[in-house]
Amino acid sequence: MTLDIARIRKDFPILDQKVYNKPLIYFDSAASSQKPMQVLKKEEQLHLEYYGNIHRGAHFLADKATIEYEAVRDQLKAFINAPNREEIIFTKGTTESINLVAFSFGEAFIGEGDEIIVSEMEHHANIVPWQMVAGRKGAKIRVLPFEDNGRLMIEKLDELINPKTKLIAVAHVANTLGTINPVKQIIAKAHAAGVKVLVDGAQAVKHLPVDVQDMDTDFYVFSAHKMYGPNGVGVLYGRKELLEQMPPYQGGGEMISEVSFEKTIYNDLPYKFEAGTPHITGVVAFGEAIKYLENLGVAEVAEYEHKLLAYATKKLMEIPGMIIYGTQDEKSGVITFNIEGIHSFDISTMLDKMGVAVRSGRLCADTVMQHYNVTGTIRASFAVYNTFEEIDQFIAALKKLVMMLS
Ligand code: PLP
Repeated sequence: MTLDIARIRKDFPILDQKVYNKPLIYFDSAASSQKPMQVLKKEEQLHLEYYGNIHRGAHFLADKATIEYEAVRDQLKAFINAPNREEIIFTKGTTESINLVAFSFGEAFIGEGDEIIVSEMEHHANIVPWQMVAGRKGAKIRVLPFEDNGRLMIEKLDELINPKTKLIAVAHVANTLGTINPVKQIIAKAHAAGVKVLVDGAQAVKHLPVDVQDMDTDFYVFSAHKMYGPNGVGVLYGRKELLEQMPPYQGGGEMISEVSFEKTIYNDLPYKFEAGTPHITGVVAFGEAIKYLENLGVAEVAEYEHKLLAYATKKLMEIPGMIIYGTQDEKSGVITFNIEGIHSFDISTMLDKMGVAVRSGRLCADTVMQHYNVTGTIRASFAVYNTFEEIDQFIAALKKLVMMLS
C-alpha cells in the first residue's frame, strides 16, 4: 500500500501554517512528533463527555474512563506483542520508565561491586538513572563503545560481560546517530551470561515494528509523544517474573491493596507500579495514536521514512563541508550533522527564520558529542507527514545560509 501523504498531512493541521512568513517545515519529530486530529479529538471527547478518576468504580463516568484506559493497555500489549497485559506499565514517559527500572531493579538485584553496561550512544535518560543507582549501591558503570560510523561495537560485550554484570541498557534506535542497534543479538549475548537488558525504544517504536517476545527483552520503554500521541505518557514493558520481584517505585493510592500503620500490602501488577492518578486523558488518547499508526501500517511508515532519510542524506552530502554523524545502513529517522566552519547554533537559528524547525545543540547526548569532540550538532528528523519537497526546500535553505555564513 502506498501512503497518501497529502491526505495524511490534513490530519495534522499544525503543519499547515507559516512561521516568520515562511511555510513551516517540521523536522523535529524525534524530539516530539505532532499529533493528528484523531488524537486531539479523543482527548477532548474524554474531557467533554466522560472524564472521571479511574479504577474507583464509583460511578458511570469513572467506569467508562476506566474501561477506555484499560483498553489502551490491551492495545499496547498487542502493539509490541507483550505476552501479558499486566506487563504494560503506564508512566509519564521513557525517562520515568527508565528511572523506575533503575530504582526498582536496582533495589532488588544490584549490589556493591556489581556492574551495569551502558552504551556510549545513549540519551542522557538512559545514562543518568544508572549512574544514580550505581552511586547508591556502590556499583560500576561500564561503557559499550561505538565506532565513528555509528556502529555499536557489540563484539566488545564479550570482554565487558563478567559475573558481576547485572544489566545492559541500550537504545533500539540512537537519538543522534539513528543507528538501529542489533538488540536481538545483544539480548542473546546478555541472556547467555544471565544478564538482563533494558531496551530504550523511544526513537524506535514509531519507525519499526517492535516485538518484545521475538526480541526476548526484559524491559522495553517508550514515550507516546514521539509516536503521534500526547506528551506526559509513556510505557514500561517488563517481564512479569522480574516486575514481580521488584519493589514499587513510588508509594501512594492505587499501588496498594491494603494499608495499615502496621503493614501495607502492595497491589498486583501492573498497579503496583502505577501510584496515584495517572494521565488518564493522555493514555486514552494514546490509544488513538496507536490506532492511527496501525491503520497507516508501521512497516509502510518505516519504508516511507527510510526513503526520506536516504533522499535527505544524498542531498545533504552535496553541501560542501558536510559532516554526518552516524552513517550506518541500518539507520532510522534522524540525520545529525555539522557544516565545517559554521556554528550549529547559527545554522539552526537561520533555518528557523526560514521556516525549518530542526534541533540543535548536544541533543541530550553528551557522550556522543564527546566521542566526536564537538560541542553541538544539528539534527533533522522525519515523520510520516514529511515530504520530499520539504527536503528540497530544507536543502535550498541550507545552501543559501552556507553562502551567507561561510
Ligand atoms: N531515550 C531516547 C533515545 C530519546 O530520544 C529520548 C527523548 O528524546 C528519551 C529517551 C527521553 O524521552 P522522554 O523525554 O519522552 O522521557
